[in-house]
Amino acid sequence: MSEFKEFSLLESIIDRVSLKGYKQPTPIQKECIPALINGNDLLGIAQTGTGKTAAFSLPIINNLGRNKIDINAKSTRSLILTPTRELASQIMQNIDDYADGLGLKTKVVYGGVGRQNQVDSIALGLDILVATPGRLLDLIKTGDINFKALEVFVLDEADTMLDMGFFKDVQRIISKLPKNRQTLLFSATMPAEIEILADAILTDPTKIQITAETVTIDLINQSVYHLEKSNKVPLLLNILKQPDYEKVLIFCKTKPGADIIVQALEAASITAASLHSGKTQAVREEALQNFKDSNLSVLVATDVAARGIDVDNITLVINYNLPEDPRNYIHRIGRTARAGKSGMAISFAVENDITLLHSIEKSIGQGIPVVTDQPFHKTFSAAPKKAKKKVKKRNRR
Ligand code: AMP
Repeated sequence: MSEFKEFSLLESIIDRVSLKGYKQPTPIQKECIPALINGNDLLGIAQTGTGKTAAFSLPIINNLGRNKIDINAKSTRSLILTPTRELASQIMQNIDDYADGLGLKTKVVYGGVGRQNQVDSIALGLDILVATPGRLLDLIKTGDINFKALEVFVLDEADTMLDMGFFKDVQRIISKLPKNRQTLLFSATMPAEIEILADAILTDPTKIQITAETVTIDLINQSVYHLEKSNKVPLLLNILKQPDYEKVLIFCKTKPGADIIVQALEAASITAASLHSGKTQAVREEALQNFKDSNLSVLVATDVAARGIDVDNITLVINYNLPEDPRNYIHRIGRTARAGKSGMAISFAVENDITLLHSIEKSIGQGIPVVTDQPFHKTFSAAPKKAKKKVKKRNRR
């Protein structure tokens, strides 16, 4: 029986969660869900990948779904503020899945797309609004949204908001919210600014810290291969020809990219499958199970799909594309060298990746050795001037 049943969640939510294939709650869900159903404020020190979206959204959906009311026009009963469009749509997608059948009104708003459709949805009144800061402020300024009916506020990825320069916008938004509300703050790290904010906006919060998995970086033999983009597949095949790799996890940037790599591997008689959000949960689970059972030697995944992957004995991680967020590098390579074992991590870098590669090296506090003794090695000139300037600017913020 699903352990989700032990929470006092609406039956339909428990059904939706089982349909998603969740068998038991993650540690953050175990701690968050009862506290949030109770109406407590919450400080969650946790990063994406821990199951935090369900941890906060299941109780919100539950509480709003149990107590349905007529919502004021241009108002929302709950607000989830998150830094990027991708996170916003991902959260909305999850919420719509979990809340299916409950008749709650939900909407996601972010910039870079037309606003009229967003204004029209908010005009009818919402139960749940997921938003990025810029577009929300814009909607506040034009009087298209008010927070008179707000019951719950979630500030997601607070430290990323700070890193991306959205902190002032976030503070402006918070100043418009009613004081009497339930507030949840999630952050992967707690820089001083976030601590001060947490003190100011949370009342007697439940505190939950899910420590990031400890990656023993010293046990991972890291290297980087400089090459032309067109040589990535040949280099990959060349590396995988060596017999010592039992289980290889390859990270790439896009879903089509993952499928193309799988095709190339299969053409070379290497058993492989892709794992990405374009596949159904059932197909993803099957691929993962086959990989775990060693029926597949290679799994090709995108960052989003690979979150939470916990497979023993991965001997090699390959970054076919470098992670766009340097913090994901350690998370990716930490898939090998688990439980005190050693492992290898190989990254492919094309000339345009050099600035990103330097940020990754900075984030792990060490250089990654370049393998020059390989058939596709390319010598790069110094990093392009434009990219250098960008890094300086970001560091100043
Ligand atoms: P998040 O940290 O919210 O981004 O979630 C990371 C991934 O874990 C998402 O793909 C979720 O669908 C998945 N997930 C969340 N909760 C569970 C659970 N209890 N069991 C299995 N997968 C889960």
